[in-house]
Amino acid sequence: MRILVTGGAGFIGSCFVRMLLGPDGPDGHPRPEAVTVLDALTYAGNRSSLAPVAADPRLEFVHGDIRDHGLARSLVAGHDAVVHFAAESHVDRSLSSATECVSTNVVGTQTLLDAALSRPSVTFLHVSTDEVYGSLAEGSWSEDEPLQPSSPYAASKASSDLLALAYHRSHGLDVRLTRCSNNYGPYQFPEKVIPLFTTRLLDGGTVPLYGDGRHVRDWLHVEDHCRALLRVLADGRPGEVYNIGGGTELSNRRLTERLLTACGAGWERVEHVADRAGHDLRYSVDSRRIRAELGWAPRHAFDDGLARTVAWYRDNRAWWEPLAARAAAR
Ligand code: NAD
Repeated sequence: MRILVTGGAGFIGSCFVRMLLGPDGPDGHPRPEAVTVLDALTYAGNRSSLAPVAADPRLEFVHGDIRDHGLARSLVAGHDAVVHFAAESHVDRSLSSATECVSTNVVGTQTLLDAALSRPSVTFLHVSTDEVYGSLAEGSWSEDEPLQPSSPYAASKASSDLLALAYHRSHGLDVRLTRCSNNYGPYQFPEKVIPLFTTRLLDGGTVPLYGDGRHVRDWLHVEDHCRALLRVLADGRPGEVYNIGGGTELSNRRLTERLLTACGAGWERVEHVADRAGHDLRYSVDSRRIRAELGWAPRHAFDDGLARTVAWYRDNRAWWEPLAARAAAR
């Protein structure tokens, strides 16, 4: 199989590529013939995240934008599957200005879907988020719930989800869609909560906790997310949506507690900052469909995965220090 990975220099996309091309292969699935990464290398993209597989002759890196119609069309034409990660993925940035977020997430997705129409046999795996469902006090969202996004980021992802499903219904494109909970793991840009807090604590600094820290998120290790994507790519049903959840719900306060402990720091290093606008209280997805239909289950226990993640940031300063400096200079 020849696979086009958009956003393959980002956090999750690069993990997916490392898994496809790594020495252990893609978790029991056939090794791909070729993997092409299409990435615009925005602030969040980093070629060094692909360093472990950069010498693999099956990997081609294309520095380009998913909104470039001609490029998208020519690349999709040479592949059997598109795994679409590329996005503006940060909620706070979408609150400061939603323009780039809507342009990349909505128009970029539509451009790729249009490109896919010229290769009708292609499988299009659209990678989305649990944030499209909005907040809920108790229980978990199933795939059939209405979308009630709160942030411009979540609304742009919800729009791209609807477009992707519309291309399946209208044009018969083999679109498969996943909605995953919060990911953590190595190679995540140090603006998201776990790498931000970890890198600041390792540097002896303070960390900003929104409001009273009661917001609850479900956490999943990035490798478990990528294994789920491999299962959907191999055996998922066209037109189907698959929720992917880790089953580890934690308030931000409890998450902060664990990160403080892992980094040997105390609560005096926490600054309470004004809450984010429209901050959803809790996300939770019901992932019984992917577990029952495709036999997927997470393998990383959260405490162990978090400890390994903190250790990775401790051991890989060369990867994140330039990024943290760039983020601080913005
Ligand atoms: P990321 O911000 O780390 O990476 C995004 C990548 O897309 C970067 O490499 C960036 O350079 C690239 N990109 C951005 N705009 C582009 C454009 N116009 N053309 C080409 N490339 C472009 O994001 P991530 O955390 O790896 O998330 C990947 C996908 O997974 C996103 O679609 C996101 O919505 C979804 N998702 C993320 C999470 C999470 O917890 N991080 C959870 C569920 C779903």
